[in-house]
Amino acid sequence: MSCPKCSARHLVEIGVTVAGKNVTLHSCSRCANRWWDDERGEQVPLDQVLDLATVRR
Ligand SMILES: [Zn+2]
Repeated sequence: MSCPKCSARHLVEIGVTVAGKNVTLHSCSRCANRWWDDERGEQVPLDQVLDLATVRR
């Protein structure tokens, strides 16, 4: 996978599980672009990740 913005291939990938869903944060070290996707490779909006990560009491 390469950065959709600048095509750099040096990406930092951090996998996390939020609300039972596996999502991966991709961070580009060249242009600081960041995006999330799920285990199917579909992009997840940051708002949705934060929403999943929010603990409701
Ligand atoms: Zn980039």
